[in-house]
Amino acid sequence: MNAFELDKVSFTYPSGTQALTDVSFVVEEGSSVALLGSNGAGKSTLLDLLLGLHPNGSITLYGKNLAAYGRKEVGRLVALVPQSEQFNFSFTLLEYTLFGRSPYLRQMQSPTALDAQIAFDALLEVGLAGFEERSITSLSGGEHQLLLIARAIAQQSRILLLDEPTSALDPANRRRTLSLLKGLHSKGKTLLFSTHDVNFAAELATHVVMLKGGRILGAGPIEEVVNAQALTTLYETEMQVGTIGSQTIMY
Ligand code: ADP
Repeated sequence: MNAFELDKVSFTYPSGTQALTDVSFVVEEGSSVALLGSNGAGKSTLLDLLLGLHPNGSITLYGKNLAAYGRKEVGRLVALVPQSEQFNFSFTLLEYTLFGRSPYLRQMQSPTALDAQIAFDALLEVGLAGFEERSITSLSGGEHQLLLIARAIAQQSRILLLDEPTSALDPANRRRTLSLLKGLHSKGKTLLFSTHDVNFAAELATHVVMLKGGRILGAGPIEEVVNAQALTTLYETEMQVGTIGSQTIMY
């Protein structure tokens, strides 16, 4: 069964801006999908729609209309790693990671010892073990990104949506994030991530969705969809596709 199916999805903001027009594609269970497109192409709007933030009758999640799901029910299947998050309160890393457990808790219910263990394991998985009691306000940019991923891991969803996961990272943290996401994907997690980092897409994605002006320019397996001509049209600047060893590179 497909994780997501989108059938001619359109979306217009109340201001009148039509952000998406007739967007159709499927996200296969277990695939890793890169969402490519210039600024304003509609990537963030699409991620919001997949999270069910704007009810839309043209999207199914595991075969059921997304609009028919409850909020917590979606949260148990789909987690978001935002681009960044403003930390206004001085939670510890463990407390913050525990927010990933909220789709499993009733209103006002405190997390259980099992929830704490799951959050602890998530911090371990991203390499932040030992920092559980540190304040989230003390984190570097790379640690901040890892914490957002830890919270999403603690959510134990089958699908992970990521909004430009490498945009604020130096090469070492970019590499850490890449290997972490590759590990999650190899364990069966379905990934869908927006990015301007085409080489990150080449290294992580099995599939690509290209958005231009809110419309699909191409969607499908990366080797079928991505070529110099398609990327040049997508970004409106001369792009090339080549290889270094076995690795595809785009520039
Ligand atoms: P991307 O993530 O690819 O940069 P967005 O989804 O943010 O693209 O934006 C798509 C279009 O929708 C753009 O024209 C943008 O200006 C518009 N847009 C985005 N958010 C809003 C909003 N909250 N209200 C009105 N228009 C918006």
